[in-house]
Parts: sequence; C-alpha cells; structure tokens
Amino acid sequence: MTDVSELVHDSAVYRTLLESTKAIPWKIDWATMKFAYIGPQIEALLGWSPESWVSVEDWAMRIHHEDRENVVNYCVAQSQSGIDHEADYRARTKDNGYVWIRDVVHVVRNEKGEVEALVGFMFDISERKKTEEKLLSLQKELEALSFKDGLTGIANRRRFDSSYKQEWEHARSEGKPLSILLFDVDYFKQYNDLYGHIQGDNCLVDIAQTLSLAVVGPRDLVARYGGEEFVVMLPEADEEVARNIADRCQRLLQKRSIVHALSPHGQRVTVSIGAGTVVPDEKADPSDFIKAVDRQLYVAKSNGRHRTEYVQQEA
Ligand code: GH3
Ligand code: MG
Ligand code: MG
Repeated sequence: MTDVSELVHDSAVYRTLLESTKAIPWKIDWATMKFAYIGPQIEALLGWSPESWVSVEDWAMRIHHEDRENVVNYCVAQSQSGIDHEADYRARTKDNGYVWIRDVVHVVRNEKGEVEALVGFMFDISERKKTEEKLLSLQKELEALSFKDGLTGIANRRRFDSSYKQEWEHARSEGKPLSILLFDVDYFKQYNDLYGHIQGDNCLVDIAQTLSLAVVGPRDLVARYGGEEFVVMLPEADEEVARNIADRCQRLLQKRSIVHALSPHGQRVTVSIGAGTVVPDEKADPSDFIKAVDRQLYVAKSNGRHRTEYVQQEA
C-alpha cells in the first residue's frame, strides 16, 4: 500500500471520528473570517444547519446577548495574539433556547508564523453547568440555614454577630446612631417546669414572631441571642426611636397574651429589656457597648422584671 492511499484512508477515518464524536469540530479561515468547516452534529445540538454557519458574524450572533461582547472580544484578542484559548458561553438555539458551550480554540499558523486559521471544538457543557448552578444554589441555601435559628426561624447569633460588626463600622464611619435592645424572658425556667420543654419551645417561637412584627427598618434585625434571649438591632435609630420600638415590643407581647400561671405580671409571659444607643467613635468598643446594654438588662431584672432599662447617654 502506498503512503497516499494510507493518508486517504486515514482522513476518512478522521472524518468519521470527527463527525461521530459529541464535540463539534469547526474551522475558520483567518483571512476571510469565514467558516471552512463545521461538524454536522451542530444541527442536532443547536438546530442551525452546517450551511448556515457562514462567517464569524453568524457565530457571534448565535451567542447569548449577555455573553456576546465579552466572549467575542476575548476570542478576537487571543486569536490576534496567536494564543490558544477557550471560552464558555450560552449559544442560541434555532428555537430560541440556549445551550451552554465550551469552545476550545487552537490557532493555526503558516511556516512564516502568521495566523492562517482557527480550529476548534465546541463541547456541550449544559449538564456540567446545571450541576454547577445546583451546587451554587445549595451553597446559598446552606448559608441561609447557617444564619438562621433552627427553632424560631429568625436570625441566629452568628448572623447577629456578623451584622453587628458591619453596622458598628457603618455607624462609626457615617457618625450615625446605632441602638440595641437585649431581651430576656422572665421566669422562663418556671414556664418550662410548669408547661414542659416543648411548650417552652413554642413560646420562644411566639416571642420571636412577635418581636419580628415590631421592627420596620430595612436593616433592622431581630435575632435569637441565646436560649431565651433575643436581640433587636436598630441601625440609624436614636434613643427616642429605640424607646418607641422597645415599648412596641412590650405592647405586642402583652397583646399576644401567652399564659404563664406562675408569673406575677398578670399571669402572662413577659420580658425584660436592656436598651442602649451609641454613636460610635474611634475609641468605642463594640463588645463594651453590648456589655453596657446587658448590664441594663440585669438592672431591669432586679427592678422587678417586665420593664425596659436604658444605658444612660453621656452628656
Ligand atoms: P429570669 O426572669 O431571671 O430571666 O428567670 P428565668 O427563669 O427566665 O432565667 P434562667 O436563666 O434561670 O432560666 C432560663 C431558662 O430558659 C433555662 C432554660 O431551661 C430555658 N431555656 C433556654 N433555652 C431554651 C430553649 O431553647 N427551649 C426551652 N424550652 N427552654 C429554654
Ligand atoms: Mg436568660
Ligand atoms: Mg430569663
């Protein structure tokens, strides 16, 4: 057998291989910017017949408009510099759908080193993209879950700590006030003893929902601070606003009227609140402020519970 017939034989093999693989081969002539070849599989994937792929404009126009500019600019720049490259993009299908494609491009040069053609493979990566998107949404879900208190569904301590740090920085840099209300349920041990732990849990859910109704600001945060302790953070709220919200929390809980036979306050579940407002300066420490608010919570307890005590503002 001669070399030539072997070559002919080989090129038929190559062609069969190229046209039966899932990757779609193509070639663009650099001088004319026209397609010299595109695998017939393209029609099954995108619906556009091989003959309809005439020039690079056809390729560009069949890229999702949100991906088009970046992908075209990138591929043109890489090709002009003679660099092999790849790009992921959404290709438009003939029936107005999209398929995620990875285009892997090799730059072919002549003996003088000039760019002669681009050859490449288009891979259907929609399954991979679907998996990636699923993973991303699971990750987001997980993040949301880990910022959420499992029992009450409101923000958890982790979320509060992270938001508090941010809001503190914000208040400091803007010279704005930041108010905090710390809640502790009164006589809750007795509530558990009398009604059982499960009803105790339900009571905490009720309280969480009630407190959530008391705030309105877009950055206001109601979080579970500990076992039967809650915190309300009010960015940009001065003392007057903080007092109003604390009163509203007390009123809404009164209205909710959760029975607690052993409570001296109308035989209803009540809370004590420590409250404070700060305009943080450079020297102020965020954990010192929380401690000061917590001390007022303790004062509210020793003054008989079911009340709110405020951190005294320095004159
Ligand atoms: P005080 O008025 O001084 O706050 O009295 P108290 O009984 O509420 O305070 P104490 O700190 O002695 O008890 C808090 C109780 O809250 C103890 C604990 O069993 C209960 N508790 C904490 N977390 C949970 C929870 O997730 N579910 C239930 N059911 N109870 C909880
Ligand atoms: Mg407590
Ligand atoms: Mg308590």
